[in-house]
Amino acid sequence: MALIKCKECGNEISDKARACPRCGANPWAAVGVSSPIALRFGGIFFILLGAGDLAVCFAGLVDDTNKAMFWGMMGIVIGFFLIATKWIKK
Ligand SMILES: [Zn+2]
Repeated sequence: MALIKCKECGNEISDKARACPRCGANPWAAVGVSSPIALRFGGIFFILLGAGDLAVCFAGLVDDTNKAMFWGMMGIVIGFFLIATKWIKK
């Protein structure tokens, strides 16, 4: 657990905190991450979407397999990227 300084009042707060306990400012607004949890759910959503797309490809339900495979891979890559940004910012 790391301590970060509140941009509003200078109070030291946990990087796990969603808001400064003294002034209520959101520490994530300053680094451009409004909600890390939303990012993670977004990432999981994209991975599931990509995995579902790939599953449909392997089941042979798509005519244009190459295109569908590409977007399935893209979904998984975007999903992992969204989840990883939470740790890259640290
Ligand atoms: Zn504060």
